[in-house]
Amino acid sequence: MAGQELLERATAAAQGYLHAVGERTVRAELGSDELRCRLGGQLSESGEPPLQVLETLIASGGRGTSASRGGRYFGFVTGSSLPVATAADWMVSAWDQNCALQVMSPFVAAVEEVTGGWLKQLLGLPSAWSYGFVTGGTMANFTGLAAARHHVLERAGWDVEVDGLSGAPPIEVVVSDEIHYSIAVALRLLGLGAARVRKVPTDGQGRMRVVELANTLAGIDGPCIACAQAGNVNTGALDPITEIAAVTKPRGVWLHVDGAVGLWAAASDAHRTALAGVASADSVTTDAHKWLNVPYDCGLVFCAHPDAHRHAMSLASAYVQATAGERDPREYAPEESRRGRAVPVYAALRTLGRRGVADLVERCCRHARRFAEGLSAAGYEVLNEVSLNQVLVSFGDPEATGRVIAAIQRDGTCWCGGTRWHGRTAMRISVCSRATTEDDVERSLAAMLRCAAAVDARGD
Ligand SMILES: *Cc1c(COP(=O)(O)O)cnc(C)c1O
Repeated sequence: MAGQELLERATAAAQGYLHAVGERTVRAELGSDELRCRLGGQLSESGEPPLQVLETLIASGGRGTSASRGGRYFGFVTGSSLPVATAADWMVSAWDQNCALQVMSPFVAAVEEVTGGWLKQLLGLPSAWSYGFVTGGTMANFTGLAAARHHVLERAGWDVEVDGLSGAPPIEVVVSDEIHYSIAVALRLLGLGAARVRKVPTDGQGRMRVVELANTLAGIDGPCIACAQAGNVNTGALDPITEIAAVTKPRGVWLHVDGAVGLWAAASDAHRTALAGVASADSVTTDAHKWLNVPYDCGLVFCAHPDAHRHAMSLASAYVQATAGERDPREYAPEESRRGRAVPVYAALRTLGRRGVADLVERCCRHARRFAEGLSAAGYEVLNEVSLNQVLVSFGDPEATGRVIAAIQRDGTCWCGGTRWHGRTAMRISVCSRATTEDDVERSLAAMLRCAAAVDARGD
């Protein structure tokens, strides 16, 4: 069979990697220079045997990766693909379907429809909303905001997809001063200008202040888009979305909610009420490759205005016609040719069920609280209210905190990055992985305290 040897070798190597990843040093063992050296050189004229190429990748990939698949990687906002999601993703690669249209892959189109319906149920979104599977949170925000741009200009009598932005009625965009930078990227790509936004102040946890939002909106007359977030990347705090929607809706302001980090918490009883307001938004996004723990790259966009969503994204051509009466995946995302990224999401949801997603969320939040408690008990200052899965900790002045972070990364038991929060330098612990156990938390906490004590003891 074609490729049998290659797939068997890949299977064995993947199993070996997954078996070892929980115990190896969490930082990448090989640096960029060494990797360039191993992987580089001239492109050969006549190619190399495929098995040899695969072996080269396996040898460097095993040690040049961060062990984010294991249970002790707390950098950025990073999940660890569920085994069933990884296996489903392998099948996606084996099927190698272009999933733009129903006619290209009826199977993936059907999986998308079932999965989209399940996601709306799980996340508390109305069943009539449209949805799209995109590469990540950034493109999900781009898509939601493109739908917003279409909708607010259409109501002002302007067809932005046909006539562009030159001469269009100006759009006011209102964001909080804690909005994720991917919103700025999306606004830039949409011609709305990253810096031409009005910024609303936030509270001590980074939540948008609703009174300030109302004041800002009171001075705006024409087309307007407001952006809120469910899950601050530093503190995890959720914007008060119900209250925000109560301000935006009567004014006809489009409300976009970036829920890349926090929207999954809607699956949990503990957080559902705080997120109930998303059903009153106009567009909502999240990342499946973060807290749902499916492989990269997978973002999701949901929209209360399916026509605006479709108008903003799709364009027929002579040879790519919409399938009459059917949902074509390409109509809801900027990407045309695309992999079947709904398939691993389907596998994850079907395996976990509603309770499984809620358990995953609650377990991560519990681990985050344990980190905060252990670090506070040792005398280090936790800078945020740990209401979700994020912990910010200071180990003293910026230099000391920086040295502790570097020591923790070098130590290799776990991995955390640094950040700035309200003028302070902090280490950021983000617990997002289904692989993290209580033992992982205790081992990581012990390593953090050991590294911090060593930096303290040196007094440098
Ligand atoms: C991660 C993140 C994004 C961007 O998502 P990508 O998948 O990296 O493109 C957007 N918003 C928030 C709040 C995020 O945490």
